[in-house]
Amino acid sequence: MGFKSDIEIAQEAKPQDIREVAAKLGLTEDDLDLYGKYKAKVDINLLKKPSGKKAKLILTTAINPTPAGEGKTTTTIGVADALQRLGKTTLVALREPSLGPVFGVKGGAAGGGYAQVVPMEDINLHFTGDFHAIGAANNLLAAMVDNHIFQGNTLDIDVRRVVWRRAVDMNDRQLRNIINGLGGKAQGMPREDGFDITVASEIMAIFCLSKDIIDLKERCARIVVAYNRKGEPVTAGDIKAQGAMASLLKDALKPNLVQTLEGTPAFVHGGPFANIAHGCNSVLATRFAMNYADYVVTEAGFGADLGAEKFLDIKCRLNDLKPDAVIIVATVKALKYNGGVAKADLQEENLAALEKGLPNLLKHVENITQVFKLPAVVAINAFHTDTKAELDLVEAKCKELGVNVALSEVWAKGGEGGEELAKEVIRLCDIESDFQFAYDLEDSIKDKIKKISQKIYGADDVTFSAKAEKEIANFERLGFGNMPICMAKTQYSLTDDQTVLGRPTGFKITIRDLTVSAGAGFIVALTGEVMKMPGLPKVPAAEKIDVDEFGTIGGLF
Ligand code: ADP
Ligand code: MG
Repeated sequence: MGFKSDIEIAQEAKPQDIREVAAKLGLTEDDLDLYGKYKAKVDINLLKKPSGKKAKLILTTAINPTPAGEGKTTTTIGVADALQRLGKTTLVALREPSLGPVFGVKGGAAGGGYAQVVPMEDINLHFTGDFHAIGAANNLLAAMVDNHIFQGNTLDIDVRRVVWRRAVDMNDRQLRNIINGLGGKAQGMPREDGFDITVASEIMAIFCLSKDIIDLKERCARIVVAYNRKGEPVTAGDIKAQGAMASLLKDALKPNLVQTLEGTPAFVHGGPFANIAHGCNSVLATRFAMNYADYVVTEAGFGADLGAEKFLDIKCRLNDLKPDAVIIVATVKALKYNGGVAKADLQEENLAALEKGLPNLLKHVENITQVFKLPAVVAINAFHTDTKAELDLVEAKCKELGVNVALSEVWAKGGEGGEELAKEVIRLCDIESDFQFAYDLEDSIKDKIKKISQKIYGADDVTFSAKAEKEIANFERLGFGNMPICMAKTQYSLTDDQTVLGRPTGFKITIRDLTVSAGAGFIVALTGEVMKMPGLPKVPAAEKIDVDEFGTIGGLF
């Protein structure tokens, strides 16, 4: 049986004029900056006089994923379409795809099947240019730092301790480590440098956490770009870069409005990494959405141990947000993977492995309901390769353990396939909850990391390397001690070892190093090497992407 590709489905759709989509939220053309017929940016000055509406906020997260991706974005879009079908004014809030993964392994990130946001070609291929603006702001700061050194270095920057790197939105391993400033006295100061992918830039995290342009500017000023020869931090504010950086970001900061295949309004805005950053769309898109809809469905990256934990402990805490319900996406494939099945064999029915993988799901459910104390429902994202026996087994086991569960068929059927899930979400949104964080900001840096590791991952304890110990002391001395923690850990395991699947016990988490993102406002705890500039795979998705004489794009998925 043949299936249509995501891009074929998307190109058959008849999207509505974006002004009609905006009208569903009560927005008029005056409130929009139109980018053609199907994309618009919204006027964030509207947030200065709140609408009085306060939408229910629904977070979509998942179990530990397989390398293929589990359908969080697809589920987020599908359940929003289902809510719209049930007569609720609904908005989706998602991250913008990065060109690196689009041309690398992922090939697109705008949902799948009949649950997509459109125009998917534009959304996947540099969209309204936000990421280029973020890259430009990043690189302006880099240029100003090196110029400061070149022009006499009155701040006494230690050239070996410039921590600000350059950025480009591309998977380009060739730029990971470079030496620049070559060519003699007039050409700059030779030093070791490198590029990160734009989504890994601290500017991206700042962009996504800023409440408005002034907040963004103040955060930019706090970025630590280097250390001087006494070991004290030098900031972007010391370089006087923040005003020009914020000027480059003025338009990018306005959330991008598009629509789903079923005409549900959707914000696609910002897209920080989910390891060294917090992994969810901009605060401005979420806040705007909550002012103009009854239900807002949003997604956090990776599994619930990383994405949801950061969404709750960082984004919600700093913005006074509280989800009303959490959807935990599970797939038969991911459960079998957690039960020890190799990636190549995930298509085969395997009830024993499925059952063996279930404790992973249960741990994530417990984390949401018992640590964060939020109402949750498991959404089983049905794949055509799943057998009925497999789908029945997951549903029966969840019910046996008292876990709310609903089958989601949004990939195959769009909103109609998500109605059971949407009805359960509506029910959960009316339950009072006593939202708790995993740690307090006043806890020491070590205690915060221990609480996350013990409560969320199920670790016995945490080991800190000598380097980590030194940085913790340093950050507490510099006054960064009360920031939230952003854990950089593998997404495939609850431990820091990606090969340990299921629900492990009796393990320790090792913190190798820490860095501070003073502008974003969090401390990054690194459990292993984090790749901030990915490379392309042997056969990049880019080889299949093409455009014809009419300008129609093919090969995205
Ligand atoms: P995530 O947000 O968890 O990374 P996505 O929603 O982006 O996952 O989905 C990853 C890929 O899997 C997409 O290409 C999507 O089309 C595909 N996919 C998602 N759900 C299904 C499904 N139920 N059946 C088939 N393919 C699916
Ligand atoms: Mg996704």
